[in-house]
Amino acid sequence: MTTEVSVRHNWQHAEISALFDLPFTELMYRAQTVHRQFFDPNAVQISTLLSIKTGACPEDCKYCPQSIHHNAELETEKLMQVQAVLEEAQAAKTQGASRFCMGAAWKHLRAKDMPYVLEMIQGVKALGLETCMTLGMLKAEQAQTLSAAGLDYYNHNLDTSEAFYGNIITTRSYQDRLDTLGHVRAAGMKVCCGGILGLGESRTDRVSLLQTLACFPEHPESVPVNRLVRVAGTPLADAPELDAFEFIRTLAVARILMPASHVRLSAGRTEMNEQMQALCFMAGANSIFYGDRLLTTENPQAEADKALFAKLGLYPEAVEMVSDDDCETALMQRIATEQDKAFFYNAAESGQ
Ligand code: SF4
Repeated sequence: MTTEVSVRHNWQHAEISALFDLPFTELMYRAQTVHRQFFDPNAVQISTLLSIKTGACPEDCKYCPQSIHHNAELETEKLMQVQAVLEEAQAAKTQGASRFCMGAAWKHLRAKDMPYVLEMIQGVKALGLETCMTLGMLKAEQAQTLSAAGLDYYNHNLDTSEAFYGNIITTRSYQDRLDTLGHVRAAGMKVCCGGILGLGESRTDRVSLLQTLACFPEHPESVPVNRLVRVAGTPLADAPELDAFEFIRTLAVARILMPASHVRLSAGRTEMNEQMQALCFMAGANSIFYGDRLLTTENPQAEADKALFAKLGLYPEAVEMVSDDDCETALMQRIATEQDKAFFYNAAESGQ
């Protein structure tokens, strides 16, 4: 018999640590039990991510190839034209995505870019897709403007614990991040906020990151859990690989702490085999990006995702333009017939 789980916002560090310390199968069982109380355990939310402005970012995030402070090989791209973005969104919708995420490598949103951003939001909304953007730091009034234009989600990751943050980023503070997240909430938008594992942080840091997220007055609706992609030319290119079980444990604990949130298996999937991804889904991950690039790092090809979904009996969470019954079929058919087309469109190859 299972006990009904309630959504809590008062998680203590020691409680979270104790979850991490559970025997692996016990932790997985608990995470699955919680997951099934809040979600269909075989449904996975599908998002498509487009980089609308790539590279030349003034921030110094040590993991990121888009930072001007590092020497990663990356072709920079100016802000895409609105029409090009809308064409990508239409293609994503046709292929089964329910949410279209647009990311720009900016420290903060500038006033001169706002009109274009608003046009993108309104255009993508008009296609019947949920909209998500990540544009760097926002002022309160900017968050209000984006919300009024119809932006559903704002992505702004905390990356790691407050204590470890200074080891990874020096050009902004943890409080800067929290301030923007507060503006997003105050404007009525949903929050997409998570972190990156394998930055050299300790388990205590992972516990602290999850505690911060789980103690927000409202949990982020989406919690992306990224595994560091070690990109040549970045300061973390040679970082030691995080143990796979530790990554899966973190996903499972996130599921238990934030039971009603979508926990997204995000960057780093390319370096995970099918078995590891299956364990991630069992741990409670129920959201992924489809496609072949995730902003500027590799993401498994749509065909590989299709094969894995079929093996595991997973299906996309219902999307607006098809009925629940038709959803899986529609997406799988699209994948099957579009084998040569990536689910994620490379901003470097389209528009400007
Ligand atoms: S993670 Fe974002 S803010 Fe940090 S350097 Fe990369 S693009 Fe800029």
